[in-house]
Amino acid sequence: MIKTPEQYVQSLRDGRVVYQDGELIKDVPTRYKEAVERSASEFWISNQPEHRALFNMIEDGEEVSFSFKVPKTGEDLQRRREIVQTLSRNRIGGSRLTGIDSLNGVAYACDKIDAAMGTHYAENMKAYRAWCKKNDPGLCAAVSDPKGNRRLHAEDPKQAHKDFYVRIVDRNKEGITIVGCKLHISDSILSNELIVLPSRNHNEGGKDYAVSCAVPCGAKGVSFLASAGTDNGGHPMIIFDNVFVPWERVFLAGEWQFSRVYATSFARYHRLTAATYKHVQLQNVAGIAMLMAEYNGLTHATRIQDMLAWLAMYADITEALGKAAALAPVVDPETGFALPNPVYTNCAKFFFASQWHEAMKYVQDITGGIAATMPSMKDYENPTVKAYMDKYLQGDARFSSEDRIKAINAVIRMGSTFGGVLTIHAEGSLATQRMVVYQMADWERFKAAAKRSLGIPTDHPDYNQPLKPPWTMPESLLKGK
Ligand SMILES: Cc1cc2nc3c(=O)[nH]c(=O)nc-3n(C[C@H](O)[C@H](O)[C@H](O)COP(=O)(O)OP(=O)(O)OC[C@H]3O[C@@H](n4cnc5c(N)ncnc54)[C@H](O)[C@@H]3O)c2cc1C
Repeated sequence: MIKTPEQYVQSLRDGRVVYQDGELIKDVPTRYKEAVERSASEFWISNQPEHRALFNMIEDGEEVSFSFKVPKTGEDLQRRREIVQTLSRNRIGGSRLTGIDSLNGVAYACDKIDAAMGTHYAENMKAYRAWCKKNDPGLCAAVSDPKGNRRLHAEDPKQAHKDFYVRIVDRNKEGITIVGCKLHISDSILSNELIVLPSRNHNEGGKDYAVSCAVPCGAKGVSFLASAGTDNGGHPMIIFDNVFVPWERVFLAGEWQFSRVYATSFARYHRLTAATYKHVQLQNVAGIAMLMAEYNGLTHATRIQDMLAWLAMYADITEALGKAAALAPVVDPETGFALPNPVYTNCAKFFFASQWHEAMKYVQDITGGIAATMPSMKDYENPTVKAYMDKYLQGDARFSSEDRIKAINAVIRMGSTFGGVLTIHAEGSLATQRMVVYQMADWERFKAAAKRSLGIPTDHPDYNQPLKPPWTMPESLLKGK
């Protein structure tokens, strides 16, 4: 089924417990009206005739969301990217932005663990995916744990307490009970289901921390502590206070050897999603910079053009890497899952995240000091102040003051600490991408290339040509020897 926006709004009224800035929220759709409208619009757009072919597919005669399909090819990955970019361009969606990556990452890991250990998690996952197709929920990835002392494992007695990573505290024939917290879980208050999975590897001593499961947002014992001052709940802390999860919704329970596979297969999908939505944001960054250059009367200056060219490259290289990651996937022979190319997807995330502050430097440079000192947009609503701002904050006379003021405000917002931290840390901090690229880069090929250039023979198929050129000049062409 494809939910209607109305059904989506009602689905948020499931008794979920949400705290925002000291207030216990009575009704999520009322409190976060605009954010819920943006999120509900994903369901609206999926019901529009001109978008159905992209957003939906027919399975067993039923129209279901394409996002729930197991990705089997690069084209499947690319189509999901087109869905995410369509939503991002329309500034809507969110309720399943991260969750599809956790669904696919966990499903892949379930197939792997079952093959290796004879467990039966894939059956649970298949049934859960079928349930998703039937009910069209918003899903989100609840991965990041608070961690405590980063140097220590979860079960280490030197940790201040045992609950820095979500863990199983009880199990019986009906299911498991979990305790802990997940941090920074984007748009989770606007979602329906939390797909919980480990954020790292765990030891045998920490096997209770190896847990993955699906938990409804309204489940007993779940509380959301929304990000400060947000109008959509932001990226909340989620508390799991003895939450019971029936076995059919459990995808990992104790097989510690596999927690790393769950974490990394999710991250691989998720970094592709990051490069995907980021491309839309980076087009916006480049566009705001160009508008500011125009409003300030600066487009003639070559030093400004240099910065603008860099910003255009920043946006388009991110997209090129994302597209390459989708269209040059690794199709796992055992499971049939198409996984984003691990090197390209990590390069994409690392590239945009590591260059964000450079981009902000250019945008702020082009904009000028007003990006630090402008009166607020609330002031701009006051007619007396507005008149002064309109008069003195005008740039090139061809453009309205209001447009310039809006653009300056956008520069202020995008250059915030939030923007920087989001870009660096969401989808994993920079070190994690370096680590993956170091592990997965094709070092044999790189070494063979180097050997070839040094004249050292190598049997690598790309570089095993004879060291001498295959064509040598005949004596007849040589002069004066
Ligand atoms: C806006 C935003 C949205 C997010 N959305 C989600 C979401 O929807 N779902 C979700 O699950 N998560 C989400 N995250 C969490 C994100 O994945 C984490 O913030 C990220 O993985 C970094 O973890 P951390 O915040 O605990 O920082 P840390 O891991 O503490 O990182 C801080 C620094 O310490 C380094 N470090 C950490 N551990 C070690 C170690 N053992 N040895 C050496 N160096 C180390 C890191 O490399 C980094 O440089 C979001 C984060 C943000 C900011």
